[in-house]
Formats: sequence, structure tokens, C-alpha cells
Amino acid sequence: MSKRLYYDDSFLYEFDGEVVEVIPPSAANARSGIVLDQTAFYPTSGGQVHDTGWMTPVSGGEEGKLRVSEVAETENSRVVHYIEAEKPPEKGSRVHGAIDPERRRDHMQQHSGQHVLSAAFVRLFHMPTVSFHMGEEYCSIDLDAPAVTPEQIVAAEKLANEIITENRPVGIRFVTPEEARDLGLRKVPPIEKDKLRLIEIRDFDLTACGGTHVQSTGQIGCILVRKLEKVRQGWRVEFVCGERAISTARHDYTVLTEAAVLFSSHIWDVPQQVRKLLDEAKGSRKGREQLLEEVAELYARHLLAETPESNGRKLIVRVFSDRDAVFIKLLAQKLTRLDSRAVALLGTSSGQASLVFAQSPGQPFDMGGLMKDAMAKLGGRGGGSKDLAQGGVPQPAGIEAMVEELRAKLSAI
Ligand SMILES: [Zn+2]
Repeated sequence: MSKRLYYDDSFLYEFDGEVVEVIPPSAANARSGIVLDQTAFYPTSGGQVHDTGWMTPVSGGEEGKLRVSEVAETENSRVVHYIEAEKPPEKGSRVHGAIDPERRRDHMQQHSGQHVLSAAFVRLFHMPTVSFHMGEEYCSIDLDAPAVTPEQIVAAEKLANEIITENRPVGIRFVTPEEARDLGLRKVPPIEKDKLRLIEIRDFDLTACGGTHVQSTGQIGCILVRKLEKVRQGWRVEFVCGERAISTARHDYTVLTEAAVLFSSHIWDVPQQVRKLLDEAKGSRKGREQLLEEVAELYARHLLAETPESNGRKLIVRVFSDRDAVFIKLLAQKLTRLDSRAVALLGTSSGQASLVFAQSPGQPFDMGGLMKDAMAKLGGRGGGSKDLAQGGVPQPAGIEAMVEELRAKLSAI
């Protein structure tokens, strides 16, 4: 068992320790693991992620400085420091440990901020926190509540920031489980231990926790609540504290400004501008669809007028290079609706090369069957009913010859 120096002092960034075990690299972990008799490094646990830093052999000087890239806790409560080194320090040697202070400060801000925010949800709305997650970009808590409104989020965020502004002392206490029972903790850990470590925010929150924390709430800086999302066990509230809150807000502002410049508007008017643009896009799409219908109808009338009748049918064959598949299908439908004698073999080489075959109801051919044969020959995919079929082919080459071949075949019947 390693003595955890951060239990008493989260601001202890440097320390000396003795190597009590060296775990050689394995298939599961390519790095050497070092266990010390005591450490200020925090291992990933309780929702908080591990510290990083450096380890230097006391006798070796600066050139022996080794990077500690991960710190983990084992089942028997040892703290393992993973280092990237070909020659790890030997068992029994002494090392000087130094944790990355910026990363530690960020983790303290997030974790203490979480305690304040969780307590605010309990105080205001009796919503307990059931889990805490600290990520690289944001943190989250899951609230056990049937519903959480945006107004409640704003109220909890406001109370949490008031507690930060009041700069209340944050203390560490150790008590027995019996003593803890009478203290009315916000959260009691499920594991039975001889001593419980409590984090107390004066006159606001008292909870069992093994994490690293600020000395007073002012050091959290601020809390910015972001996304609210329904999850299986309740509601997930995303938030960021301290410097992360500032950098996140800075990022949001930059993105919003970029959008506002495109609209030549104030950032607060961006949603309204986007809504307006979407409405306009919807309107112009409708207008375009209507025009396309009219063009297809006029074009169909023109084709029917210029096509002579033969064997009681008007066989219309055409391949377009400037119309897409949507248009030729529309045209086929217009042709067969406007004239009961229409048989249309249409194709397009523009965009996705396609074919559309159609006949007016009562005409004798099988368009689905013809399309299947054509696709087999052209290496495409398609099919349809007796009166209307369509297919797409990988290459436009061959479309022209295919419809001409079918023109000859159908004209002879
Ligand atoms: Zn905690």
C-alpha cells in the first residue's frame, strides 16, 4: 500500500519516495510500472483522471528525468506510475517526483467545481448526483431525477457561482464510518473503510471523496454548465470549470462570430438569421419543384406532338446529357399520363447515368423485365413494375446503344 500524500495536501507538487516495486513491461502494458512507498501522484479513480509528471532518481541528476505518463490504482490499493524508460529506477532506490502543476490545477478546479454543482442541485431541487465523469474537454454529472428543466440548470449554475464568489474554505477531514453516519453526508461511499476522507465546503457541502481539491471555492474560478441530455439513469449535465470554462467560452464565441460574419449580423441574431435562411431555402426548393413539373409537362406535350403514331403507339426514345434522373422520371410519368398511347425509353448521362422505361396503362410491354435485361447488360442495378421501371448504371457509355436496340425491338412488335 502506498502512502498518498495528496490525501492531506492537494497542493504538494513535489516529493521524494523510495521504489518498493518495479513492474516490468508486459503484453498488456509496454511501459514499466513503478510503485513508491509514498506518492503525490493521483491515480485515475472516483471519476477523476490521473496526474502526469516526472520522476528523477535522487542520485542520477537531471539527465535521469523520466516521464510519468499514466498513474493507476491496483486492486490492493497500490499506486502504479507508468514511465517511458528503457532503464527504470531500481527497487530500493530513491526518486524525486514532480507532478504537472497545470494539469493538477485543472483537475482540482473541475473536481471541486463538481462538488459545488452537485450540492447546488441537491439544495435547490433534491436531485442527487449518481456519477461523475472528468473528460479531456468537459466534465459531466448524472442526476437521478425524472426531469430537469433549462431553468433549473440556470438556477443551479447561479447558486454554484455564488458559492465560488463567496470564496468559502474547502477542508479535508478524516472520520470513522460511525462518525460519518451522524454527519449527514451528501454521498457515502459503498466500500467499508476504517477511515473516511471527507471534503467539506463550509456550510454548504460535506461528502466522502478521495480526489484532489482546491483550498477555497474562489480557486475554482467559475462554473459554466453546457449540455443537458437524457440518459438511461436520469439526466446528464455537462459542465466546465475555471480556465476550461474560459477557453470553452472563447471557442464558442469564435465559432459564433464566424457564423455572424457570414450573415453580417450580431452573434445574438445568428439563430434568427439561420431560421430565415432555412425558410428561404425551403421556399426556393418548392418553387423549383413546381417549375420542374411545368417544364416536364410542356416538354412531354411537345414530344407527344412531334412523335407519329405507329401500331397504335407513340414510341418516344431520348437520351439527355443535361437533365438528371429525377427529371427523366418526371417526364416519363407526364408522357404516360397525358397520352394513353405513350411508350417512353428515356436515359440520362448527366450525374448518375440512369434509364427510365414507362408505358401508358394498357400497353402490352413489360418495362420491369426490359429494365432488368438492360441492367444485366450494362452492369447496373434497377427494376420496377410492368408500366414504370428505372435503373442506374456505373458508366454513361452504352446507354444510347441500349435504347436504340430497344427502339428497334419494340417498333417491330
Ligand atoms: Zn469528489
